[in-house]
Amino acid sequence: MGAAAKKPMIHPSTELRHIDAQLGYGVFATERLPRGTITYVWDPLEVEIRPDDPRLAEPVLRDKIERYSYIDAVGTRIVSWDHAKYVNHCCQCNTMSTAYGFEIAIRDIEAGEQITDEYGMFNMPEPMNLSCSRTPCRRQVKAGDLDQLWHAWDEKIMAALDVLELVEQPLWPLVDSVTATQVERYARWGEGYRSVRELGAAAASTQVRSG
Ligand SMILES: [Zn+2]
Repeated sequence: MGAAAKKPMIHPSTELRHIDAQLGYGVFATERLPRGTITYVWDPLEVEIRPDDPRLAEPVLRDKIERYSYIDAVGTRIVSWDHAKYVNHCCQCNTMSTAYGFEIAIRDIEAGEQITDEYGMFNMPEPMNLSCSRTPCRRQVKAGDLDQLWHAWDEKIMAALDVLELVEQPLWPLVDSVTATQVERYARWGEGYRSVRELGAAAASTQVRSG
């Protein structure tokens, strides 16, 4: 029971490191994480902040929330309780969010390599300027990226899901049973893949409403 309660939602073979004053912190692999490894799973300890949450009205809190959260498909901001909130964006990222509530390594990640993901799936209300160390770099990430790039992202995720059952998955117990069944169905029979387009549904309707 105690061990289960301490299970992290970011992969246990990761650690927080300070990079430099400009970049701040980042998350690094402490051992090799092969393609297909689930690197993050939403879990019930995450802090959830809905659009009408009064904490967003307090500027100091709002600044922290905006800096450390991602926005899910129903418009809720998620602030990770552990060091997952320090994972940086890279246009040539090595992990990606999926419509299954977890992130997955889309290529092999070597020990000591920084873990990065794609903020273009996070429904960011404001564009963010970039200068990724790996190229090519889009120079800016924004909510509309999902509409442009979902197909290429889906291809990378599908290739990772194909080998999901061949690699160690310490976070698998955190995947809920309905999702686990969907993932296994895709991994084994190639059926019922859920596209990352699902992650952007609420963002699109929010933009329409706000005009
Ligand atoms: Zn970039």
